[in-house]
Amino acid sequence: MTHGHADHARSGHGEVWATPETLDIMALRYGTAEGTGVAYGDGIEEKGVRISFHPAGHVLGSAQILLEHAGERVVVTGDYKRRPDPTCALFEPVPCDVLITEATFGLPVFTHPPIEDEIAKLLEAREDNPEGCILVGAYALGKAQRVIAELRRAGYHEPIYLHGAMQRMCELYVGHGIDLGELLLATGLPKVALKGAIIVAPPSALNDRWARRLPDPVTAMASGWMRVRQRARQRNVELPLIISDHADWNELTGTLQELRPGETWITHGRTDALSRWCELHQLKARALDLVGREEDEGEG
Ligand SMILES: [Zn+2]
Ligand SMILES: [Zn+2]
Repeated sequence: MTHGHADHARSGHGEVWATPETLDIMALRYGTAEGTGVAYGDGIEEKGVRISFHPAGHVLGSAQILLEHAGERVVVTGDYKRRPDPTCALFEPVPCDVLITEATFGLPVFTHPPIEDEIAKLLEAREDNPEGCILVGAYALGKAQRVIAELRRAGYHEPIYLHGAMQRMCELYVGHGIDLGELLLATGLPKVALKGAIIVAPPSALNDRWARRLPDPVTAMASGWMRVRQRARQRNVELPLIISDHADWNELTGTLQELRPGETWITHGRTDALSRWCELHQLKARALDLVGREEDEGEG
């Protein structure tokens, strides 16, 4: 298992191998802690194949998986990004013969701005709305904790308020040594207590009844998909923050340039543009269709 997001980690497997962090996340989500924990850099041997886990830089515990057999090396990236993230280990380039890469943002239009710029926008919006609050939609695993940690890095040390659905995952991150500062539950507090607050909630809560009890919220959303204006409009997002835990076009192509694998299999997103790019750069590539993968905008 490369990481704990629901489009990768499902319940009901006979055997699971994952990093200890991913096993903890799966235990929290599915209530079962069974599996073999394999730390970054460590490996196991199964039917003559050596299997090892290497940081993918996507969310806490996320891993690329290297398979070695008879001198051949295959790397499955899972979801990944190249930018530093205070909530997880930095992506490690792993030389290989075959690279199976994700391509969620595999179009040249997807370039993610520096996260510092997006966090500055968020802090500015808060300054501009002293009587209201800023409600930030962010996925409960990874994005929420990264936004919080980046706010802290930018010098914001007020308490940050959470929707109840975020609480246990944030506690899990803190348990793994990620400093998120003071976190309080937003639920049940009177409107006046939340004036000037930053509140982090799952995207599904942005437009629901829960949000109506907040004081004059400015609705923000942290996702790579916020690059697409129409997606922001569909969700009634007033403050789109382009913050993604996936590699953007430059990170995808830069990684291919760096590794120059003998073959690249492209999956989990937009395969056509990246296949074409590989062709133009004399890299052998093909699209890999995943069985049972739903077309959804994922965690972005
Ligand atoms: Zn993911
Ligand atoms: Zn994914």
